[in-house]
Amino acid sequence: SNKLHKPHIFLPHLVASMEDVEETYIMIKPDGVQRGLVGEIITRFEKKGFKLTGLKLFQCPTELAQEHYKDLQSKPFFPKLINYITSGPVVCMAWEGVGVVASARKLIGATNPLNAEPGTIRGDLAVQTGSNYTVDSQDSMLIPFGRNVVHGSDSPENGKREIALWFKQGEVCQWTPAQEPWLTE
Ligand code: ADP
Repeated sequence: SNKLHKPHIFLPHLVASMEDVEETYIMIKPDGVQRGLVGEIITRFEKKGFKLTGLKLFQCPTELAQEHYKDLQSKPFFPKLINYITSGPVVCMAWEGVGVVASARKLIGATNPLNAEPGTIRGDLAVQTGSNYTVDSQDSMLIPFGRNVVHGSDSPENGKREIALWFKQGEVCQWTPAQEPWLTE
């Protein structure tokens, strides 16, 4: 038989299907907007090759901030977090792609900007130092690291939940970027 003929191996895990396409909610927090980092942050996701499907500048009402962060409502820093998120306009974004949730979290970096790797958004663009910052604290919860410029959903489920929370119907666009055939084979 023909030895040049490649055996037909089915590798389902290598084939991206529509089911693999995820959505994530990315938000430039008030410090990122005030510091003029909007373009820089959007550029990082654009250059990576993800698809932008929603984008707006928005002053977040308190109730929405509380709903968004409801899993953290028992944390001691919760009231400060709500003040921070509502302290000025934020940029709301929906991004789509295979593996976009975990990849965006990598691009964003660790929650505490001082621990975030160089090359990540928080590692490159944020410090969160302050008079009440204590390195020797036993309880990391006492170390404030609220001002970390950007939010990214932590799971595909939360990506969907948060996009539904922050965007009205019709604000998220389905479209096919011209670059698509050049991004993946
Ligand atoms: P992430 O935003 O990296 O997913 P979390 O979901 O744990 O992190 O926390 C949500 C946000 O709450 C953080 O991005 C940060 O702004 C704020 N936050 C988290 N931990 C603290 C803390 N110990 N002190 C003050 N703010 C915090």
